[in-house]
Order: sequence, then structure tokens, then C-alpha cells
Amino acid sequence: MTVKTTNILVVDSSEVSRTIISRILLTEMDYTRITTCASGLEAMHALENDRFDLITTALMLPDMDGLELTRAVRESTHHHYTPIVVVSGDADGRLLREGFNAGVTDYFDKSQGYQSFVNFIKSFTRRNSGLVGKILYVEDSRTAAMVTRHIIEKHGLKVIHTTTAEAALDFLEQTRRGGPKEEDGVDIVITDFFLKGQLTGGDLLHAIRARLHYSQQEMPVLVVTVSDNEEKQAEVFHAGANDFVTKPIVEEILIARIHSLLLIKQQFYALKNQAEEMKRIASTDSLTGVRNKRYLLDHGEAFLSRKRNAPIWAFLIDIDRFKKINDTLGHITGDHVLAALGDLLIKSFGDNCMLVRFGGEEFAALIPHCSAREAKARAEVLRRKVEEMRPANVDITISIGMASTIDNPSIDLNDLLRSADQALYEAKKRGRNRICIHSGFGVEHSILPHPETPAETKPKSVANSK
Ligand code: GH3
Ligand code: MG
Ligand code: MG
Ligand code: MG
Repeated sequence: MTVKTTNILVVDSSEVSRTIISRILLTEMDYTRITTCASGLEAMHALENDRFDLITTALMLPDMDGLELTRAVRESTHHHYTPIVVVSGDADGRLLREGFNAGVTDYFDKSQGYQSFVNFIKSFTRRNSGLVGKILYVEDSRTAAMVTRHIIEKHGLKVIHTTTAEAALDFLEQTRRGGPKEEDGVDIVITDFFLKGQLTGGDLLHAIRARLHYSQQEMPVLVVTVSDNEEKQAEVFHAGANDFVTKPIVEEILIARIHSLLLIKQQFYALKNQAEEMKRIASTDSLTGVRNKRYLLDHGEAFLSRKRNAPIWAFLIDIDRFKKINDTLGHITGDHVLAALGDLLIKSFGDNCMLVRFGGEEFAALIPHCSAREAKARAEVLRRKVEEMRPANVDITISIGMASTIDNPSIDLNDLLRSADQALYEAKKRGRNRICIHSGFGVEHSILPHPETPAETKPKSVANSK
């Protein structure tokens, strides 16, 4: 669902109030634009030239009062429905008596302070943010469609109109969930029940629920019927509609129904995002920010068998003599080092790689679609970067064991990692701060460390079978 900028008009004769209100709203609310006006006339001018989602006005203005401004706004075409909040110094009797008749949506008692004013606006916009979204509207009568479309668009909603259920289904197929055009999809569907094509609104509903598998929460559908026959209306619900409106359409009712369906849709998305976020947290290692081993166990095998990923390289990356860092500088410093290495690894392996914390100070990476030459180059670049990194002012080096699917395309995850582990073992044995590669014939190749590596990790003798 698209995030819309909330456009707020603040009308207040006090420059101090205007400045404080707009500054605090801008810092505390995302996607917000504020326009400020000092008088009613200025406000009327702004309202003619722009569209606002919310208007706040002081009760006393130099040229008119807040209630007069409210009446004028309610008479305008563009802002007929825009919520208006009157901000007053005290709960004025006249405001309570006349305000709601004049069209005031709510009022705020300024004596509660600016911070609570901002909280009020935040929760107000949250409660009233339903009217954002895109609607697929199916109506075979072009005249009826024009009128209704105009009503919907007047409320700031986007409309895609089709005259047949077939065209609507085409559109929904193309923008279906998970597909490449999902972004272009709609939030809800409004369909006439009787349509001139082969398919009726009922058929469209059936297809949306049974064929495209959209639930009433994921794709709310509002049906337009001519009938006030209760049996017919029940039929609409049987077919999977969320709600219905009868013709002739009454603007207030249509907009109220759309509003509640858009809220359903927003809640669906909020829950879905929350579930995804929880899944991400459960599969992420909190210290280093990379995925945990569980993630590799759950998804590694599928990653390995994906054809377009071949050939794959597995790296096992282990910090050299890490225990010494813990023992001499403390466990907390050790943690800092691990976190810093996690950052570097995330930057080094893009989203297409699978990177996990494999054990305490050991990481595993699966690199898709990678040649031997490229894999060696990447490993060497990484080894050097770690050497130069000095996280928490500590000199660290890593050893990397590498194995690939090149010689054995059907190798499973276990065996691939075991091979990489044998190579890692060899790298440690040969003196650390180096890269060893496992091939079908055992560990047969290693890359020497950079000549400037600290003496203690330098190999005593050159052991390279290359
Ligand atoms: P080698 O070069 O052979 O890999 O030596 P090493 O000292 O790095 O390896 P060893 O397996 O002997 O020690 C790994 C150490 O990593 C032991 C353990 O306490 C430490 N470690 C594991 N997880 C964490 C962690 O989350 N935080 C910190 N600070 N240390 C950890
Ligand atoms: Mg019709
Ligand atoms: Mg180690
Ligand atoms: Mg280790």
C-alpha cells in the first residue's frame, strides 16, 4: 500500500504558535507537509490552491473566527470532507454549542500544551487515514461510472475503471500478489453486480476469492446492487463480498463503506508486515545482524538447488585466535569485534548471497553464480579488508575455507559445508590469515597471506600446493 504524505494546514494568528506547531509536527510525524497561515483570508487562499488532509485553526483569527472559516471550508468543493480541528485556549461554550453544527470535526484544548497537541494530531491522522488507496471499479454503464468515479476521486482516492468483469480479472491477474506488477495493484474492488459481459459481478467475486485466493481482508470487495431485495443482498455476501451499497449511490454512504474497507486492508498489511518482521527477527543473529544458523538450515538446501544459482561457492570464515582477544581484552571487546565483522560481511556479500553466523566466531556465506576466479578474488579482498579493519582497535585476521559445487553440482549442503570446513582446517594448520580451497581431490590450493601480515600469524614455511 502506498504511503501518502499528510498535508496539514495550520491556521493561527500567533507566529510563535505556528512555528512551534509546525516544527514539532514535522519532527514527530513521517510523511507530513505543513502549510501555515496567519488569517482566515490567507487560509481560504491556500485552500483554493492546494488540497489538505487536515486543517487546524485557532478559534480567534484576526479577520474571522474559526467557526466562520469552518463553514466556508464546508461550502468549498475540495475540502467539503476535510477534517477540521479547532484549537482553542479553553473549552469555549460557543464552540461546543455551535462548532459541530458548523462542521468542526474535533477540537483541542490548547492549555494541555504543544506536546499533547502533537500527540492528538498524530492519533487523529492515524484514525482518519483510511481514505488513502487505489480502487478497481467495475461498472458497465459509463454514465454511472463517471458520476461515481468523480465522487471517489474527490476524496483523494485513485480509481481504475473497467466496464467488464473480464477486464477487471485481467488487471487483477497481472497485478497479483507476489507477481512483478504487484506494486501497481489496487487496495479494494468495487463492482456492479449486474454487468453486460459474460461474467457478472458475482462471477468476478468468485474468481477473486476462489481462483486468485484473496481473502476478504486482503482484497475487500464492495458490491453495488440495484436491488433492495434482502435475498439478493444475502446472495452478495454468499459470493464473498465484504459489503454492498444500493443504487442510486449516496455519496456519504459510499465513502463511509470505502473508508471501512480501506481500514480492513490497512490492518491486513500492518499484520502482514508485523509477521514478516517477527520472522526476520527470529532468523537474525542479534549481535552481528547477519542471519543465524537456523536460517541456513531452513533455506540453505533450497538455495543450493536453485538452478540459476549454480555454480555456488561456500565460504567458512573464522576469526583467527579469537579466544585470545576474549582472554586478554575481555568478552565485551570480543563482542564489538564480532559485530564489526558482521557489518563488514553484510557489506561484502550482497543480498543475493546467503550469509549466516555459523558458530561463535565463525560465519558461512553461500555465493550464487560465481566462477572460481571471482570467488578467489572475493575471498582475498575480504581477507585484506579484515586485516585493515582494526575493530575496537584490535588487530584481527580471518581464515577462509572455500568449496564449490563446480565439480559436483548435486552436492548437498552438508557435504559442501564439510568440504569448506576441511579447507578452513587446512588454512588454520598452514598458519592462519589465509584462504584454502577444497576441490574434488581434497584441499589442493591455498592463497598466501599478504606479505604485511603480523609476524605471529605468518606461516613459518610456505605451504602451497599450487
Ligand atoms: P582459531 O584461530 O583456531 O580459530 O582460534 P580461536 O581462538 O579463534 O578458536 P576457538 O574455537 O579456540 O575459540 C573461539 C572463541 O570464540 C571461544 C569463545 O569464547 C569465543 N566466542 C564464541 N562466541 C562468542 C561471542 O558471542 N562473543 C565473544 N566475545 N566470544 C565468543
Ligand atoms: Mg450494470
Ligand atoms: Mg577462530
Ligand atoms: Mg571457530
